[in-house]
Order: sequence, then structure tokens, then C-alpha cells
Amino acid sequence: MSRFFSARYAELDAYVPGEQPKDKKYIKLNTNESPFPPSPSVAEAVSLEAGELMLYSDPESRALTRAVAELYDVGEGSVLMTNGSDEILNFAFMAFSDADHPIAFADVTYGFYPVFAALNAIPCEIIPLRDGFKLDYKDYVGINKNIVIANPNAPTGMAISVRQIEEIVRSNPNNVVIIDEAYVDFGAESAVPLTKKYDNLIVTMTFSKSRSMAGARLGFGIANPALIRDMNTIKYSTNPYNVNRLTSAAGIAAIKDNAYYMDNAKIIAENREYTREKLTSLGFEVLPSLTNFIFARTPEVSGEDLYLGLKQRGILVRHFTKERIKDYNRITIGRREQMDALILAIEDILKEKRK
Ligand code: PMP
Repeated sequence: MSRFFSARYAELDAYVPGEQPKDKKYIKLNTNESPFPPSPSVAEAVSLEAGELMLYSDPESRALTRAVAELYDVGEGSVLMTNGSDEILNFAFMAFSDADHPIAFADVTYGFYPVFAALNAIPCEIIPLRDGFKLDYKDYVGINKNIVIANPNAPTGMAISVRQIEEIVRSNPNNVVIIDEAYVDFGAESAVPLTKKYDNLIVTMTFSKSRSMAGARLGFGIANPALIRDMNTIKYSTNPYNVNRLTSAAGIAAIKDNAYYMDNAKIIAENREYTREKLTSLGFEVLPSLTNFIFARTPEVSGEDLYLGLKQRGILVRHFTKERIKDYNRITIGRREQMDALILAIEDILKEKRK
């Protein structure tokens, strides 16, 4: 820390993204990216748009907003496009929470929530997941606090139902509920239709997972237009051109190819169940998942040793050191042959350990 760093950030523990080592070519199962490239029309759209880069992007992202609104069957005024879904989450934290309006979230969930809270000096109410890392919706009913829930949750992979989300939203009418649906396309049910019925719900989504565009940085929020206007006030006070021209063109092209991405999501879900069965038969405990990752542990090898053993064998997975989850690894689901390589490497690690 330099002597100039503001005292208000002195205690800030910044978010730590998954590692991206360049020392050799790894099978990357550590940051929940898609193993499939974007559809070919995305590259075409981007290269056409490159000729326009001397001009700023549309601060309202109108064409992209229209395409997203149409796909999700909501009004254009209910959509805000952002630089990844991390940005809409930050806008939502900034716009609706403060020292007098704390935010509640699970003890085991997306690691950026406590960082956004700390960055904006927002007090947090941490609600521990129940046994088996289950999120009990009743823990959020009528708590009279702003709430953020990743649904499905990360890194655990499990989801609650839309009926349960509705109960949370309905019972906290004077608070904002953010449902982070980064992984919803891999099998969970979306709460987007509820945004038409409730004025205190924001659903956030991303193009980083099912839509193979993590490197383009594109996300969005869907909510009642009044909430969208408030978040736009934050956007125009920080970064009006938050979605660049290339990303916007890529996003519009990707939405036209929606079927390709939804087919890929189905393949990932199949590979997930395949991997879950294989690991279970090797003695692993694997949490049920509706995402593009699984959360797994074995009594035979510590979480850290498994992570290190896999890394040594050219496979990256995500290990968290937090006490409650340190025995586990979060493993992104890739193509079938990548999962077979993972299983072989794990068999090798177990064999070595059993010697
Ligand atoms: N929410 C959750 C639960 C995530 O795991 C991620 C991925 N790190 C994000 C949001 C943000 O993703 P992005 O900014 O790439 O849209």
C-alpha cells in the first residue's frame, strides 16, 4: 500500500480471480468458463464492428438492450447492459445499500459480494447455509434487509425454486432482492418473470458462462424500470460507455444464435452428470449441481492436495481456503475428453495416495 492510498480502503480485501497461469497449457477447469467457442457469427460481427472503433459506443446500448429484452420477454426499460455481471452487481450494491440499508447473503456464496459491500461501506448480514450447504429460503423470509442470492449458488451449485424466491421477494417489500442467475442456463429456473410482478427484484445474468463470452465482459440486469433508472444513475456517474462496441456487436450476434448456446448448455449438463457419477464411484462426495461446475471432496486427499496434484498433472481446478469449504474443490465442467482427463488424473492421485 502506498502512503497515498485512501484510508477508507485500507481494510479492503480485494476479490481474487481464479489463477490464469501461462507457464504451460493447462486444462482449465477453474473459472467456470465455457469450453466451447462463441458461434462463428460472433467473430464476423466483431470484425465488422472493428472499423467503427473511432466512435464511442452507444451509452444506452440500444440495439443490444432491445435484443435482450426480446429474448427474455420484458420491456426495454427493464434491462441494463453492463461490463460483465460483476458491474451490474456493483451498481445494485451502490444504488440500494448503504450504512443504514445492510445486505444479507450466505456465508458460502460468490466471493465478490463481501468485496462490493466493503468497497461501499455496506454492513453485511451473513446467513450460514444449512447442513449439506443447503440454502433455506425461510432464512430470508421477512428479514427486512436487502438480499443477494446466487441462484444456483456458487461454489456449491444448488438452487432454490422460483416459488421460494417469490416468497422472499414478497415478504421483504421494502427491500431490494438481487437474484444472481450467472449459472441459470445449466438447469435452474429463472426468476425473470417475477420482475414484472414485483418492484423490488433485480435478476442479474451474464454472457460469461453459457454464452461463451467471458473474455468480452458482458452482463445485464432485469428489473422494474424504476430500479433500472437508479442503477443508470450510478452507471452514468462512473462509466457511461460501459459496454464497448466490439462486445455489443458480439452480444447481439450471440443472441441471434441462442439455440447454439442452449444446446451447448445441455451438453455441459450431461457432462456434469457423467463426471458426478464417475467421481462418486471413486469415493467422492459430490454436491448436486444445476451449474457448469461441481463441488466435490474425497476423504482420501485434502482439498489442497487434490488441487496441487491436479495442477501438477496439467489440470486447474478452484480450491478455496475458507474453513467451511477447504476440503472441497470446485471443478468446472468442460468437454467430455477434458472430464476424462480429469478423472484419469484423479485416479492417478488416489493410486499414489493408496500405495
Ligand atoms: N456471479 C457469480 C455467482 C459468478 O460466479 C460470477 C463469475 N465469477 C459472476 C457473477 C460474474 O461474472 P461476470 O462478471 O463474468 O459476468
